[in-house]
Amino acid sequence: MGLLSPLNSLLFHTMYDVAIIGLGCAAYTAAIYTARYKLTTLLVGESEGGMGMTAAEVGNWPGDQEVTGPDLMERFKNHALSFDDVTHTIARVEKAEKMEGGFRLTYQSGETAEAKTLIFATGSNKRHLGIPGEEEFSGKGVSYCATCDGFFYKGKTVAVAGGGDSAVEGAAIIAQVAAKVYLIHRRDAFRAEPFWIDRVQSKENIEFVLSREVVEVLGDGKVTAIRLNEPFNGSDTLAVDGFFIEVGTIPAVALAEQLGCTLDAKGHVAVGANMGTSVPGVFGAGDVTSGSNHFEQFATAAGEGCVAANSVFSYLQSRH
Ligand SMILES: Cc1cc2nc3c(=O)[nH]c(=O)nc-3n(C[C@H](O)[C@H](O)[C@H](O)COP(=O)(O)OP(=O)(O)OC[C@H]3O[C@@H](n4cnc5c(N)ncnc54)[C@H](O)[C@@H]3O)c2cc1C
Repeated sequence: MGLLSPLNSLLFHTMYDVAIIGLGCAAYTAAIYTARYKLTTLLVGESEGGMGMTAAEVGNWPGDQEVTGPDLMERFKNHALSFDDVTHTIARVEKAEKMEGGFRLTYQSGETAEAKTLIFATGSNKRHLGIPGEEEFSGKGVSYCATCDGFFYKGKTVAVAGGGDSAVEGAAIIAQVAAKVYLIHRRDAFRAEPFWIDRVQSKENIEFVLSREVVEVLGDGKVTAIRLNEPFNGSDTLAVDGFFIEVGTIPAVALAEQLGCTLDAKGHVAVGANMGTSVPGVFGAGDVTSGSNHFEQFATAAGEGCVAANSVFSYLQSRH
């Protein structure tokens, strides 16, 4: 593993073969492949492990019947950083621009890095509901990560909003410690994996609140209740100590947009079968892209990272 100190980067302004932006499943996988292709690789991202760090229980990573997200990401990271050709930097990238022979990245610190090609593996951010009280009580009972913060609610009553995997898994995990969990979904059926639906259905302390939306978070210094758009069991408020919002994600496309990469109708970076974007020399991998039919999983993110790395290798070879 190479270390990029600010002094080094000033003295030797390396033009990497590839800069991979992200430190999640897709990015680590791409780095393993680019390193094995002997490409000098800059692996730069803000949060180590990415979204994978919030997966409490992973039962579908091939080869591991059960593993936690953090353990899996630690193994990915150690593998990626075991190569001399991989330079690992923890930084937020604020700007991506085209330059002669490649691309320039500017970090939040003002430092810059240059690479002949880019792989965006920037994942996504949690979607907010945008309702009154949400921002005011964020961190004071409102959370966007049920599996991260659920354990603070031992013996308490909480609500989880959402109908996908994150919400249903989150409710199941919190129900292990909380006294009562309301699982609130605006539709009348969940779209989560049947595995997780079975799990929540078997928990006596989870109550489903279907065909309802949360319209306001109420509190006094911290969350005390949530208001629904329609009454449930005769009341439009539910008294809760915590409210977990797990209503999907928004792809982190800001940097790709700066370079003019085309987005698809769902706002993801549009990629072809080779994970190439609309901008030559720029590739994408993982949750941020339109790839894998928008099926956002560890296995698909890893697969896309692998394909993107192979495409970078072909692209660089074709330019020689
Ligand atoms: C609660 C939960 C449970 C899950 N459980 C499972 C499961 O059981 N099985 C499964 O297959 N999948 C699961 N998933 C989905 C899986 O976690 C994701 O599909 C996968 O982690 C996506 O990886 P990624 O590399 O594309 O993105 P991410 O892991 O989101 O990584 C994105 C990276 O980009 C970085 N980044 C973004 N913008 C910038 C910037 N401007 N500058 C620098 N760095 C930046 C971030 O810091 C991060 O390091 C789960 C997801 C959640 C939320």
